[in-house]
Amino acid sequence: MKKRVAIYGSTGSIGTQALEVIEAHPDLFELEILTAHSNADLLIQQAKKHKPNIVIISDESKYQQVNEALSSEHIKVFAGEKSLIEMAASDNYDILLAAIVGFAGLSSTIAALQQGKTVALANKETLVVAGDIVSELVKKHHASLIPVDSEHSAIFQCIVGEAENAVEKIVLTASGGPFLGKKPNYLINVKKDHALQHPNWTMGAKITIDSASLMNKGLEMIEAKWLFGLQNEQIEVIVHSQSIIHSMVQFIDGSMKAQMGLPDMKLPIQYALAFPHRIQNDFKRFEFKNFPSLTFEVADTKTFRNLALAKEAMLMGGNAPCVLNAANEVVVDAFLKNKVGFLEMSDIIESCLEKVSFIEKPTLHDYIMCNTETRNLASSFIK
Ligand code: NAD
Ligand code: MG
Repeated sequence: MKKRVAIYGSTGSIGTQALEVIEAHPDLFELEILTAHSNADLLIQQAKKHKPNIVIISDESKYQQVNEALSSEHIKVFAGEKSLIEMAASDNYDILLAAIVGFAGLSSTIAALQQGKTVALANKETLVVAGDIVSELVKKHHASLIPVDSEHSAIFQCIVGEAENAVEKIVLTASGGPFLGKKPNYLINVKKDHALQHPNWTMGAKITIDSASLMNKGLEMIEAKWLFGLQNEQIEVIVHSQSIIHSMVQFIDGSMKAQMGLPDMKLPIQYALAFPHRIQNDFKRFEFKNFPSLTFEVADTKTFRNLALAKEAMLMGGNAPCVLNAANEVVVDAFLKNKVGFLEMSDIIESCLEKVSFIEKPTLHDYIMCNTETRNLASSFIK
């Protein structure tokens, strides 16, 4: 039986790599749904090549263009966020790869989990914003959440078969990004072109900036907390600039397991899509002799304050991570438009965490309102 796959966010970095994985294994996967926000040209091209049954363009102004271009294909075309949610809740697929970036990915992931579906989760913001609600949905509807983020895939791979055994702590590895070792007097002047040059990974713009500011690792701490049901103090971060160890788990007997490999997102994508099986591929292999030293150092949270702010939000709980995420989405977008400086991003996030009212046990509605309120507040700090 082939797995029927829905790729939400097929035009992005994760989405396009997922298409490569699926194309390489036509015996295992069947492409059912592709979605994109506004890149109609690429969505049309992907649909013509991969022939899914359904495509959804969430930017409704592009519907006509997509529909006309695909009129001679046997493909149903839909538009708008409502269609994303409806199709996520439908029986048209077996596994949904959640690869939309940001808060925008929350509603479709929730719709899938409410139907007890299997979700391969790349969209970490979903768990940062509403991790408590999302984890409850997984339990209540016997849904499955399989991580795609490389660190979380690493941890997941380390704990497969260890269900009886308690985890003492996990160690998330961080590459440190392009500004590893730099200090505020340098960072004050950096621009987006430099911040977008990640040393080890090629990714979408938002996560690349998050990696440069270490916010990505902060978001990943919160993501890990909910994915693996951990206490805050069980989550550690270490800078490992080679990105070979993707993360580690220490069990209660002190034994540590690490998952290693060259940095290539196709591996965790393939693992999540094929789980519980490993499938053969021709990805480049890691060789110890090419990496005579693997290094580890403590993150400089005095310089990269976003990591400290994310940890603070995690410890506060409630709606604080939602505030952190919303403010971060706004400042990253502004940084990419050269409207705020690199260090100013942390100032604005900190102000939002101070000013938005704290809610200890938010409902989904509270999270949605909190996201809007924080976005407005963060935008008001940007000229
Ligand atoms: P990207 O910017 O390259 O792609 C984002 C995708 O989301 C695109 O297909 C776009 O059309 C869609 N999208 C954007 N805004 C949308 C909206 N408002 N409504 C509906 N769809 C929308 O991003 P990416 O790098 O592929 O990352 C996707 C997610 O995966 C992010 O949450 C990121 O943190 C996570 N992730 C990415 C990587 C990576 O290597 N790229 C690694 C780990 C985790
Ligand atoms: Mg990651």
